[in-house]
Amino acid sequence: MAEADLDLCPRCGAEVAPRPANGAWPFCGDRCKWIDLGAWIEGDYRIPAGPDGSAEGEGEDGTSRGSMGRYGGGVAEG
Ligand SMILES: [Zn+2]
Repeated sequence: MAEADLDLCPRCGAEVAPRPANGAWPFCGDRCKWIDLGAWIEGDYRIPAGPDGSAEGEGEDGTSRGSMGRYGGGVAEG
């Protein structure tokens, strides 16, 4: 087997030098490393804003509510 164990930069696709010699691994260089890191941080800090809260109360149309009320009211204490 050949010793071609070079990784490809996830940022630009260039060949990446092995880890010991490459401080920017797994990127090809510091530039790609920082570009990717910056994008990652931006995405991480960004708070996903929902549409208008329309996701709440969708699907259930009072059906489960009636059931819940029935069971909830029949709970014996003691
Ligand atoms: Zn690169």
